[in-house]
Amino acid sequence: STAQIGVTGLAVMGRNLARNFARNGYTVAVHNRTAARTRDLVREFGGEGDFVPTESAEEFVAALERPRRLVVMVKAGAPTDAVIAEFAPLLDAGDMIIDGGNAHFADTRRREHELRERGIHFVGAGISGGEEGALNGPSIMPGGSAESYGTLGPMLERISAVAKDGRPCVVHVGPDGAGHFVKMVHNGIEYADMQLIGEAYQLLRDVGGYGPGEIADIFRAWNRGRLDSYLIEITADVLSHVDAATGRPFVDVVLDQAEQKGTGRWTVQSALDLGVPVSGIAEAVFARAVSGHSALREASRHLGGPTPRALGGDEAAAFADRVEQALYASKIVSYTQGFHQIAAASAEYGWDIDLGEVAAVWRGGCIIRAAFLDRITAAYDALPQLPSLLADKGFADEIAVAQDDWRAVVATAVTEGVPTPGFAAALAYYDSLRAPRLPAALTQGQRDYFGAHTYHRTDRDGVFHTLWGGDRTEVAG
Ligand code: NDP
Repeated sequence: STAQIGVTGLAVMGRNLARNFARNGYTVAVHNRTAARTRDLVREFGGEGDFVPTESAEEFVAALERPRRLVVMVKAGAPTDAVIAEFAPLLDAGDMIIDGGNAHFADTRRREHELRERGIHFVGAGISGGEEGALNGPSIMPGGSAESYGTLGPMLERISAVAKDGRPCVVHVGPDGAGHFVKMVHNGIEYADMQLIGEAYQLLRDVGGYGPGEIADIFRAWNRGRLDSYLIEITADVLSHVDAATGRPFVDVVLDQAEQKGTGRWTVQSALDLGVPVSGIAEAVFARAVSGHSALREASRHLGGPTPRALGGDEAAAFADRVEQALYASKIVSYTQGFHQIAAASAEYGWDIDLGEVAAVWRGGCIIRAAFLDRITAAYDALPQLPSLLADKGFADEIAVAQDDWRAVVATAVTEGVPTPGFAAALAYYDSLRAPRLPAALTQGQRDYFGAHTYHRTDRDGVFHTLWGGDRTEVAG
């Protein structure tokens, strides 16, 4: 047994992760259900480092140094359970199974609890950055026991992305499913970021009157400022790309129906369970769903509404500046909601997650990497118990500056009939939080009226009910 780490599941992600370990000097045992993939890997990339190709589970496990560290990179769901069932009986107490797939955190909690009883450390590790990240440095969000991180952590720190300040983009997020939970919310925020960017693009196009190439230039300019991020950068690239077959802008020849693999939906489902408003992420998931309902959209094309009048010249340029403000303010709200969800889950499951560290590991390698994340880390470093990112003075001040433009952009979108569910939901969330009174008091009155659900008063302690069907006197609830 010579390998410090093993990878089973050698599709794009597993293969690249194995190569990343090997390129960093580790001896890597490799295994795949279909052995041809293992042979292909060693044939094509064997020169990059020390690989130990294995064809059976027994051979794979025997190749690993103890305590064994076995990375599973198979299709999430039933395949992960099948692989665990195959390998766990071959392992000893103290060995580690690291699941780098996109598992649901509840599955990770279940697997961790089951394997813990057998003395095996199960580490659900969120990995972001796609196949390129897996090869050259992903952002890694491991959960599982602190003990397992003691020996596994330094290896992950070697293969992970590195942030601008030199820190590796990996942190022990917390016990059992904490890592996969944080990865899930990362993906939810990614949905929201993409939706907000999409809305900005649509406004610049329909109201600003700009073409895709011009909008690419606007995004490039924004990318030199506070919106500096991977997603803004690739947006500019996509928008400036011209379709070779037709000579038209690429974005005009792609079918406008967005697909999804499910992590955005999981984020919203979990937020509903936790009672945390993540309206920005939810609107992003729903916006993809709307786009995919082609029959419904076809049947609705005749519905009345305005046709946007494109601005021109200086007016368009001024509008673009306002859209930047709206995008930035809405982005602050998305992250506020996502971090609220992580904080709520951390309290619910006893994970004790350091929110500033989470923002720090997202600074490199992952899809939502952005200069902005340094600000979030700084906000939580300054005040670890920050109740909300909006409570941070820096962010609150920025929104105060942005909000007139933000409101103007949403108002224009509504007047011109351009759908901006992300911008509008973010603004509604902001206004809900700052409202001195919410109509929830009326909701409580309605609930008490039809269901005797009772209410609290602002001026006295206790629980009350009004006899709505009788003489409307108030009684103790
Ligand atoms: P896939 O999700 O396409 O999974 C293919 C791999 O799973 C193959 O190695 C396949 O083996 C194996 N597999 C499937 N079913 C079984 C089974 N019942 N028993 C054993 N092995 C099985 O591969 P990816 O590389 O795209 O992703 C791997 C994991 O990483 C997934 O969980 C994915 O969600 C996650 N991930 C992917 C990212 C991406 O950008 N693609 C980013 C981050 C995470 P065989 O060759 O024998 O069919």
